[in-house]
Amino acid sequence: MKEKFSFTILQSEALTKYLLETSAYPREHQQLKELRHATVDRYSHLSVMNVPADEGQLLSMMLKLMGAKKTIEVGVFTGYSLLATALALPDKAKVIAIDPDREAYEVGLPFIEKAGVAHKIQFVNSDAVTAINQLLHDGEEGTFDFAFVDADKENYINYHELLLKLVRVGGMIAYDNTLWSGTVALADDDLSQEWKDRIGENRIFLRNLNAFLANDGRIELAHLSIGDGLSLCRRLH
Ligand code: SAH
Ligand code: CA
Repeated sequence: MKEKFSFTILQSEALTKYLLETSAYPREHQQLKELRHATVDRYSHLSVMNVPADEGQLLSMMLKLMGAKKTIEVGVFTGYSLLATALALPDKAKVIAIDPDREAYEVGLPFIEKAGVAHKIQFVNSDAVTAINQLLHDGEEGTFDFAFVDADKENYINYHELLLKLVRVGGMIAYDNTLWSGTVALADDDLSQEWKDRIGENRIFLRNLNAFLANDGRIELAHLSIGDGLSLCRRLH
């Protein structure tokens, strides 16, 4: 199939294509590949919401290095990052996956089942603030190794406070899309009206988040230019 690449204005299309074709796609799990293609068929241009294959491989390696056994995914869509996570976790591990959109999850579910990892996943069909508050209420504070946040950008700042309670000291919270196609680096005057209409208010939400995380003494921060930008936060205390 003809591959589509999403790339940021900070990184050329040629480099993105090179990274994916040389290093990522040859090692991509067959069911991740099929889920990715099924998402393109079903959702067309919206399929760029799936994390790219190289980012999925980074998540997978980090989870293994951390020895993660309990993780949470905020924003599932068709489940590319969820399947990458479930494949990386040991057999008895658990990933709680939260999204109000069950229909999109069901597009990816057959591939998750075929990969033999559905038993590790608990899908919660809900808004994430409600679901995370419920977990905290149920005594799950400090029990999660890892959180992947890839949902409504205006709420990232709220998820941060809740997830700092849910994730253990030494655990990690990862925020996706924190470069927002590179537009966080542009001044307001550099953006045409067309760009402003396309990127909406998320650029502002993410700029605020980035500034907040840079000054948050409760975490160690590594802000990466992979995919659409990934901010790794390790809980310090
Ligand atoms: N992580 C996925 C992509 C997620 S796209 C992947 O890499 O494949 C963003 C998702 O966030 C959408 O499916 C959307 O339904 C979900 N979302 C939006 N608002 C949300 C909320 N309040 N709580 C949880 N999920 C939300
Ligand atoms: Ca994303």
